[in-house]
Amino acid sequence: MDKPCVVFWFRQDLRLADNPAFCAAVKAGTVLPIYILDDVNSGRAKMGAASRVWLHHSLHSLNRALGSKLSVLSGDARTVIMALTKKEKIKEVFWNRCYEPWQILRDKKIKHDLEESAVKVSSYNASLLWEPWEVLKGDGTPYKVFTPYYKNGCLQVMPPRTPRLAPEKMRLADAPKGSLSIDGLDLLPVTTWSSKMMRHHKVGEMAAHSRLATFLSDELQDYKVGRDVPSAKAISRLSPHLHFGEISPHQVWFAAKEQMKDENLQCFLSELGWREFSYYLLYHFPGLPTKNFRPNFDKFPWSTSTKQLRAWEKGLTGIPIVDAGMRELWQTGIMHNRVRMITASLLTKNLLIDWRKGERWFWDCLIDADLASNTAGWQWVAGSGADAAPYFRIFNPVTQAKKFDPQAQYILKYVPELAKLPLKYVFAPWEAPARVLNEAGVVLGETYPTPIVDLKTSRTLALEAFSAIKGVS
Ligand SMILES: Cc1cc2nc3c(=O)[nH]c(=O)nc-3n(C[C@H](O)[C@H](O)[C@H](O)COP(=O)(O)OP(=O)(O)OC[C@H]3O[C@@H](n4cnc5c(N)ncnc54)[C@H](O)[C@@H]3O)c2cc1C
Repeated sequence: MDKPCVVFWFRQDLRLADNPAFCAAVKAGTVLPIYILDDVNSGRAKMGAASRVWLHHSLHSLNRALGSKLSVLSGDARTVIMALTKKEKIKEVFWNRCYEPWQILRDKKIKHDLEESAVKVSSYNASLLWEPWEVLKGDGTPYKVFTPYYKNGCLQVMPPRTPRLAPEKMRLADAPKGSLSIDGLDLLPVTTWSSKMMRHHKVGEMAAHSRLATFLSDELQDYKVGRDVPSAKAISRLSPHLHFGEISPHQVWFAAKEQMKDENLQCFLSELGWREFSYYLLYHFPGLPTKNFRPNFDKFPWSTSTKQLRAWEKGLTGIPIVDAGMRELWQTGIMHNRVRMITASLLTKNLLIDWRKGERWFWDCLIDADLASNTAGWQWVAGSGADAAPYFRIFNPVTQAKKFDPQAQYILKYVPELAKLPLKYVFAPWEAPARVLNEAGVVLGETYPTPIVDLKTSRTLALEAFSAIKGVS
C-alpha cells in the first residue's frame, strides 16, 4: 500500500481534468485525495437539500474515477485537516481556491495552522476565468456594473488560461482509518422527493462533458433568442456541473469558442461573464448574501405575509407562469432563468416580500444553488443589487408568459389542470368567462387557485413603496 505524501482536498472542483491543484499534487508524489463535508463553518451558506443530493451522486462519480480511493470526512475542516496531516505525516496540502466569504476566512486559518506545523500549502485557481482581484477599474476600485466589468475589465486584462488534460498517471493512497463512506455523510433525504428529482439529471464529470457536447452541437446555434424561451432546448443546463466543478468554466469557454463565432457564442460567453461577475461581487462585497447592496433598501417596508410566501413556494399563487416555475423547481431542482426572474419579481415586487426569503427557498431547492449567483440574481431582480434591474421594472407575469411561452407549453407541463382552457386564457385564467372555465373543468379556488394578488394594484403599490426609498440613504 502506497504511503501518502501529499493531500489533495477536493472542494468545488469535483473533476480530474483541468484541475490545476490536482495535477500539481499528482506531480508531487503519492496523493491522498480527500473530501470534507464542512457543515460547521458554513453558517448561512450550509448546503441546501437539493445541493446535498447532487453532491452525493457527484462524490460517487468522482470516487469511481479515482478507483475508490476518495477519503470522505466530515466536521470542522480545520480540525480534520490538522489531525489528518499530523497522523499521516503529510508534508504538503493542495487545493483549488473557493470564493465564498466563509471559505476564504476558513482557508486562511487552515493555511496559517498548516504552515505553523511546517506543512506547505499550495492553492490554485480552478473555477473562475478571472481572479476577482485581477480586474479593477483604473482607480483601483472594483467595478459595480456588469458591461464595463466584462468588456473593459475581463476581456482586456488577459485571456482565460487554456484548459489542461487530466493527469495520465497518478499514485493514490488508500483512505486512512476513520474515513467515512459517501453514504455515511447522509446527504440524501429519507423521502422519495430526491429520487424523482434526480430522474431529470445526470451527474459527474463525464455527464458534464456530454451535456456540453450536446449543447454545442445542437443548441448553441439558437442560444441568443432561445435562451429566453423556457420550453426550448436552447440553454446549456451546465449550472450544477459548474457549481460543483465537474467541469471548469475554462473548458466550457474554450470548447464554445471552437464551435462557432457568431452572436450566439458572444451571448453565451457573456452569460459565463455574469457568473464571473457574481463571484466578483461576492468577493469584493462579502455582505452580498445578507445585506442590500444599495443601503436605501434597508428602509424598504417588506411585507411579512407567510401565507403568500407559502403559496409562492408551493406554486399555488394562481398565476400560471409563476406556479409553473415554482413547480418546476420543486420537481426538478432547477428553474429556467427567465422564469427565475419572473417568479422572483412577483415575490419581491407584487407581493413585496423580502428577497432574502425567496433566496432561502431557492437555496434549499436548487441543485445549482450557488451563493454568488443566487444572491446576485435575487438582488438584481429586487432592485437592491449592483447593476440591478431598476425598481420600476416590474415584470408583468402574464405579458412575460405570452411573450416567452406563447403556446403555453411550459405552463401546461407543470400546471396541467389548465390544459382544457382555450390558449388565450391559460396565461390568466381569472379573465375567462364562467362558461369557459366551466367547460374546461376549472373551478377557481378549487381546482386551481384564484390569484393571491391583483397584478395591477400591487404594481402601483410597489412603485409607491420603491419611490419612497429612492432618495433615502
Ligand atoms: C433569482 C435568481 C437566482 C439565481 N440563482 C442561481 C444559482 O443559485 N446558481 C446559478 O448557477 N445561477 C443562478 N441564477 C442565474 C441563472 O438563472 C442560471 O445560472 C441559469 O438559469 C442556469 O441555466 P444554464 O446552465 O442552462 O444557463 P446558460 O444560459 O446555458 O448559461 C451558461 C452558464 O452561465 C452562467 N449564467 C447564466 N446566466 C447567469 C446569471 N444570470 N447569473 C450568473 N451566472 C449565469 C451559469 O453558470 C450557466 O450555467 C439565478 C438567477 C436569478 C434571476
